[in-house]
Amino acid sequence: MTNIFLCLLYFFVCAFLRPFSVAKEESLQVRFLLPVVFTFIFAITITAQQSTPLASPTPTPAPLPPPSVKIDGYRAAAARIIGAALTSDRAYSRLAYLTDHIGNRLSGSTNLERGIEWAVSEMKRDGLDNVRTEKVMVPHWVRGEESLELLTPVPRKLQMLGLGNSIGTPAEGISAEAVVVRNFEELDRLGEQVRGKIVVYNAPYVNYGTTVSYRLQGASRAARYGAVAALVRSITPVSLQTPHTGAMNYDPNQPKIPVAAVTIEAAEFLQRLNDRGEHPTLRLKMEAKFLPDAESANVIAELKGTEKPDEIILISGHFDSWDVGQGAHDDGAGSIIAWEAARLLKELGLRPRRTIRVVLYTNEENGLRGGTAYRDAHREEIAKHVLAIESDSGGFRPEGFGLAATAPLQVRANMREIAKLLAGIGADQIAPDGGGADIGPMMREGVIGASLDVDGTHYFDTHHTPADTLDKVNPRELALCVATMAVMAYTVADLRESLK
Ligand SMILES: [Zn+2]
Repeated sequence: MTNIFLCLLYFFVCAFLRPFSVAKEESLQVRFLLPVVFTFIFAITITAQQSTPLASPTPTPAPLPPPSVKIDGYRAAAARIIGAALTSDRAYSRLAYLTDHIGNRLSGSTNLERGIEWAVSEMKRDGLDNVRTEKVMVPHWVRGEESLELLTPVPRKLQMLGLGNSIGTPAEGISAEAVVVRNFEELDRLGEQVRGKIVVYNAPYVNYGTTVSYRLQGASRAARYGAVAALVRSITPVSLQTPHTGAMNYDPNQPKIPVAAVTIEAAEFLQRLNDRGEHPTLRLKMEAKFLPDAESANVIAELKGTEKPDEIILISGHFDSWDVGQGAHDDGAGSIIAWEAARLLKELGLRPRRTIRVVLYTNEENGLRGGTAYRDAHREEIAKHVLAIESDSGGFRPEGFGLAATAPLQVRANMREIAKLLAGIGADQIAPDGGGADIGPMMREGVIGASLDVDGTHYFDTHHTPADTLDKVNPRELALCVATMAVMAYTVADLRESLK
């Protein structure tokens, strides 16, 4: 609107005040033709100026300095690493042992401790240096028996999984009418109307970071209005009747109510009953409870550096998992990728100048005590950590690394340069941000963090479900992840120059 007014004003100025006129007398065509042309150009100019910021809404990233590292000397080593990773079945066969023979590994479980013992003895057999455990006390939540039934209008059993850290129900369960909401705003509008009822959140998946708020806060937000239990639609874009568990948190200022995940199918079914005014009633039974904290451990192994052994390149994953499925992608794969990267380098006789340290953290899923304990136990040498990489996005086709947005520009330029060694397997991207839950505590102390980035298309399909099993892992993609991790870790650890 303002533009039209400006153009009209411009036209009148040109046509009647005639600032561009040279002759005193002009024909009518000349007198108006020129102002029309000028006005047209004026209109295009102001429109173009206004639309420029809309065309590029994100600010241009700061230009990177030229890399200060030279990678030519690493091409041969990178090729050897990639070749060896792709012709070895060690990563897959170890993940097969972990998933098929040990199984899922929730904190406090004997499975997790058996897995830790196995990893330590295998790492020693691999000939890695300084293989050890560091004790961590972990929360011990147990699920027990659980069930969800629709009582009316049509009796039916519904698939469910209690959320980690939830309290249980009385032995006879909680029977109440369900009220289905699509989001927190709908809940807030209903307010006290949900008192005495079971709130069902049927929030469609947007992305993990956004939608997970229903799993984390749903129980306490419903309890605030007097709800007696809560159910959360599983945090996933797709479902084949698969409920997804995961951690939840209680707001200390609200009463604690039990909370479980339901499938997308169940959430939509309950939504339809609710919308038709059929007042569905449910019975939720959960035996979930906390036992006293249990003893667990982080597992550590190294490839000791030859020239600067006190400088550390840390590669890691978390060894615990939820108590359903096999914890194959989350995060058996990530743990094996870090471990196998170091073993492969050892086998190839590639011992870098700096130390490569493998850490398999305990208790990422429901406490993060492993990542916190590592930082606390290594405060003295925290400044000696050159780079910390976490692999916790599944063992899918690698794309490269996500480097923390806060990393110095020189580090970004250098990692981009090093990643060129991975162009042949398509894993040469350095994404604008990255990190990991377990390396978070040390990143807050200034350590530069990165994630192994993989094709995430199907990660949340089976995440935290009984379907996170070995058959979902492609051996070749897992081997490519090992190659990607090993090439980056080796090169950064061996640079003559500093990464910064
Ligand atoms: Zn994970």
